[in-house]
Amino acid sequence: MQRLSWVEEELSALKAEGRYVPIRTIESAQGSWVTIGGKKVLNMCSNNYLGFANHPETKKAAIEAIEQYGVGAGAVRSIAGTDEIHARLEEKIAKFKHMESALVYQGGLLANVGTIPALVGKDDVIFSEELNHASIIDGTRLSSAKRIVYKHLSVEDLEKQIRENRSAFKKALVITDGVFSMDGDIAPLPEITEVAEKNDVMVYVDDAHGEGVLGDHGRGIVNYFHLEDRVDIEMGTFSKALGSMGGFVAGSADLIDLLKQKARPFLFSSALNPGDAAAVLKAIEILEKDDSLIKKLWHNSDILKKSLSDVGYNTGHSKTPITPVIIGDEKKTVELSKMLYDEKDVFASPIVYPTVPKGTARIRLMPSAVHTDADIKVAVDAFTDLGKKLHII
Ligand code: PMP
Repeated sequence: MQRLSWVEEELSALKAEGRYVPIRTIESAQGSWVTIGGKKVLNMCSNNYLGFANHPETKKAAIEAIEQYGVGAGAVRSIAGTDEIHARLEEKIAKFKHMESALVYQGGLLANVGTIPALVGKDDVIFSEELNHASIIDGTRLSSAKRIVYKHLSVEDLEKQIRENRSAFKKALVITDGVFSMDGDIAPLPEITEVAEKNDVMVYVDDAHGEGVLGDHGRGIVNYFHLEDRVDIEMGTFSKALGSMGGFVAGSADLIDLLKQKARPFLFSSALNPGDAAAVLKAIEILEKDDSLIKKLWHNSDILKKSLSDVGYNTGHSKTPITPVIIGDEKKTVELSKMLYDEKDVFASPIVYPTVPKGTARIRLMPSAVHTDADIKVAVDAFTDLGKKLHII
């Protein structure tokens, strides 16, 4: 097996550098507490912001859809047709987002990887935020467009890059995460759209962490800034606040029509399962009626951030429930996470390079609407005790 010896070498190197992250197997449903290896642990690292991953109404909707439509979509929609539930979901998203039309994908990653190459090609340019999600980077690579990276949150740098480069290309697209997943900060979208409009640049926002969190009843970052008529493409995922699986893009009716002819995950990969689609539909219906889960999420995250920073932790500059506890040193971060789990029954995974830049290793805490005040206190007490023990605080 000489030709595969590099695999073991690569794994050993990851372990030696402290960058090997063990992956836990969860035996229970998602929620504030989960069972791992027979042990109940406080779950602080799920993106299930509002608890919809295990909500009685989303589960019921999924079960009913499975009864009605089965467990598989059968084939790609361009060949085998669209299940009525997918069409209903697309209408619902467009309405919820105040956009003309929407297209559902099988995942958020696929929404980015599929849409970006359908929008721009080798004669075009993408102005991409420095900390954009990996799926945007991959979609950009697949598009063959020239990628020009601008500095994190810097409209000044974006404007400079556009001024210096725009005229050399046919089409231009600026892409940014709405909420940055590792830091919880928010893109300056009003200023970005202004610069883009002046320079004939399309605007694309990934709202994976804004849905169900920002805006009126969780409509997301575009609604939060009232930019529905100025953002051209709004991309999102169903796998976080909406609790299920899948992704989407929303935009003009023509744009969505074109994507159905060009986007490769639409043309070459089978559709989302009907049960997943039904669960998302139900989650949006609940949000339209009632935003109390969103309020609880923000309440929990405010307490968590304040308590951790009061005891001396660096929680960055998050403007959303995402709570990065920045340690810096990779080995120490992995050690803290292990001790939290072994000694305090707190499940909070370490996040290290290459997911975040070197020297900024962290434990990213994700409070949710289903955590109680007592749960948040368990997490804060555990971090306080171990932080002192490890001389982090
Ligand atoms: N974009 C961003 C900003 C994300 O954080 C994620 C999930 N990590 C995705 C896209 C991909 O979404 P999904 O998990 O639905 O594929």
